[in-house]
Amino acid sequence: IEKCCQVIEKEENLLPEAIAIKYFPTVVERTKGAEIWDIDGNRFIDFLSSAAVYNIGHSHPAVVEAVKNHIEKIQNYTIVYFYNEEPVKLAELLTQSTPGDFPKKVAYGFSGSDSVDSAIKAARAFTGKKYIISFKHSYHGMTYGSLSATGIIDQETKKVICPDEHIVFAEYPDPYRNKWGIDGYAEPDLLSQKALLEIEKLIEDLQGDVAGVIIEPAQGDGGMIFPPAEFMKGLRTLTEEKNIVFIDEEVQTGMGRSGKMWAIDHYDVAPDVVVSAKALGGGMPLGAVIGRAEIMDAVPVPFFAYTHSGHSVNCAAAVAVLETLKKENLLQKAEERGLFLKEWFKEKASQYPFIGDVRGKGLLMGVEIVSDKASKTPDKATALKISWAAWERGLILITFGKNGNVLRVAPPINISDQLLEEALEIIDASFKDTAE
Ligand code: PMP
Repeated sequence: IEKCCQVIEKEENLLPEAIAIKYFPTVVERTKGAEIWDIDGNRFIDFLSSAAVYNIGHSHPAVVEAVKNHIEKIQNYTIVYFYNEEPVKLAELLTQSTPGDFPKKVAYGFSGSDSVDSAIKAARAFTGKKYIISFKHSYHGMTYGSLSATGIIDQETKKVICPDEHIVFAEYPDPYRNKWGIDGYAEPDLLSQKALLEIEKLIEDLQGDVAGVIIEPAQGDGGMIFPPAEFMKGLRTLTEEKNIVFIDEEVQTGMGRSGKMWAIDHYDVAPDVVVSAKALGGGMPLGAVIGRAEIMDAVPVPFFAYTHSGHSVNCAAAVAVLETLKKENLLQKAEERGLFLKEWFKEKASQYPFIGDVRGKGLLMGVEIVSDKASKTPDKATALKISWAAWERGLILITFGKNGNVLRVAPPINISDQLLEEALEIIDASFKDTAE
């Protein structure tokens, strides 16, 4: 990894530490499908997909063609002053794909972070209210608004850098480990009730001055936690009763990865606003907020106006992603692969004492590493050991989660059977290594 080291040294001198949570000394030079190569020629299978971006694989031919064809014609002309076909074409597809049979409108951004900002703006503009209810251990981004709504980072430091007083955090009903000590897999109703009661109390304490609730339908960076369906349904009913905007934050969970187009589709719930980014642009920077028309129209001119928003080339890439998901039947594929992988990891859980929980839907999976199954004590050190052992064998399998002890299983949905098999052999060998 000689060449890699040279770049790393330069990066350390030139880019601030805060850009990163680095794991491995890998300088990525080339990517294709579900594989990446570093500048020293080492090849890795990608179980991270660049943080759930490459749902259809790196440099998918449909995305490459859309970008190439489009950029030859027009790069972008700002949507702030002129009209442009691509963002409109994409908005048609997005409004059709999201749940809820009501008129919708789409505002564009470049990332998850700024798209979350836009959703918060819309909720506040529509209701004329201030507070946003977010969740502990949530991740929403690093711009000012999205950072203020992020629950997973140190809240004291955050208050100094980003002092937004109008965000409150509720407990996310984690079925595996929660503050009430409820086994949420066995008693989803009880867990849902407890979590909903807490939110009702928050609304009361804030004297109803609540504009929106922002929730990941499965906490991603929190450790791939799916709440009980009863909770999501209850939250929808509660927000409807109180005229609170329900913001479904699908930056990590959307675009087919969970086996449905949006993870919220697993709960039969229609949110008021859906936030998308990451996989939306197929690797091109693009975010979108898809919301009820009256909510989106409540935002005053020009509060959504970014020079590059609805970027023409990136919207063309997103149209190609949506077409590819359909053409390659990738929702079904994600579901099938998820079921297969869950069984595979559960089998491993019966062999290895450190696998505490295997969870997820589709290719949004988490494998929780613990030092003791009964007490569920998180074991970050062992999780990192497994992750390193996998890297040494050529697999990118990072750790994440509120305790840093969850293996993140998120390969491209269309990874070949052969690569998937190879990756599982590596994981098995890494488990064995760690157990010894
Ligand atoms: N929301 C969620 C759920 C995310 O996982 C992320 C990225 N990890 C973001 C928002 C922020 O997205 P971005 O990094 O594109 O700004």
